[in-house]
Amino acid sequence: MALLSVVIPSFNEEAMLPAALEAIPASLEEAGIRYELIFVDDGSNDRTWECIARGAKEKPEGTIRGVRFSRNFGKEAAIFAGLASAKGDCVAVMDCDLQHPPKTLIQMYRLWEEGYEVIEGVKRSRGEENAAHSFAARVFYRIMSTSTGLDMSKASDFKLLDRKAVEVLLRIPERNAFFRAISSWIGFRTASVEFDVQKRAAGESKWTVFSLTKYAVNNIVGFSSAPMKLVMWIGVLTLIFAFLLSAETLVRYFSGSAVEGFTTVILLLLVLGSLILISLGVIGYYISRIFEEVKGRPRYIISETL
Ligand code: UDP
Ligand code: MG
Repeated sequence: MALLSVVIPSFNEEAMLPAALEAIPASLEEAGIRYELIFVDDGSNDRTWECIARGAKEKPEGTIRGVRFSRNFGKEAAIFAGLASAKGDCVAVMDCDLQHPPKTLIQMYRLWEEGYEVIEGVKRSRGEENAAHSFAARVFYRIMSTSTGLDMSKASDFKLLDRKAVEVLLRIPERNAFFRAISSWIGFRTASVEFDVQKRAAGESKWTVFSLTKYAVNNIVGFSSAPMKLVMWIGVLTLIFAFLLSAETLVRYFSGSAVEGFTTVILLLLVLGSLILISLGVIGYYISRIFEEVKGRPRYIISETL
C-alpha cells in the first residue's frame, strides 16, 4: 500500500500542535491512508519539540517523526528539510495551524491515486485578513504571476507531490527557492483542489509586515530579473530626455539666451543622483543573491531528529 508523507513546518506552535496531532491522523486513518507525519521544528523557542515528541510516542513507531533545526531558518527551509526526510510515495506539505483542512488533503490523495503528480491547493477564499494585507498580497502576486508566467494569485504552500516531483525539487540547488512557485514551475501532470482557508484557532500568524515585505522582495528577485531590466529602461528614457534638454540648451546658448540659474542644475543633479543610487541598489540586491548562492551554505542545519 502506498505511503503518504505529510510535511508540517512548525514554528512556535505549541498552541496548535495538539490539535494538529489529533485532527490530521484521525482523518487519514478514517480514509484508510497509510501515512507518516514529519514535523519540522523550525527552531521554536516554546515547547513545540516536546509536543512533537509526546505525539510520536502515542502512535506506532515511525508514524510521527520530527526534525529539529538548530535555529529558525524559515518556512521554506523547513519544507525542504521535510521533503528530504520524507519516505513516502507521495509527499504533502501543510501548515501546522489547521488552516489547511485535512479533508482537502484526502481529496488531493485521491487525485494522486488517479495519476496526477502535482496537486496544488488553491485558495477559494483567503480567510480573514485586513485590507492592507490583502492589497499587498494582490500586488505581490501580480508581480509574481507576471514574472513566473504562472497564475500565483490563489497559490498556497498546501500541495501534494509525487515522489518524482519531490526528487526533482530536491535536486534543484537553489538555496533561496520559493516552494510555492518552484513546485508549479517544475511542471508534471498537475491538478488543483480548492479549499477555504480556515481560521487559525490558537496561536498567532508568524508574519509581520516587515517579514512579509522581505519575503516578497526576496521571491521577486529570486524569480525575475525584471527590476534590472527596468533600470535599463529608465536609463533609456533618461537618455532621450537628455537629448531633448541638451538640444534646447544649445539652441538657447547660441541664440544668446542661456538657461539661467542654478535651479535647473540642482534639480538635474538631485534627480539623476537618486536614479543612479536606486539603480545601483537594485543591482546590488541581485549581487547579494548571487553572493549567497555562491557561498553554498546549507539551507538549514538539523540539530536533532526523532
Ligand atoms: N512557519 C515556520 N517557520 C517560520 C514561520 C512559520 O515553519 O519561520 C510555519 C508555521 O508554524 C505554520 C506555517 O509555517 O505551520 C504557516 O505559518 P503562519 O500560520 O504563521 O502563516 P499564515 O498562515 O498566516 O500565512
Ligand atoms: Mg497560518
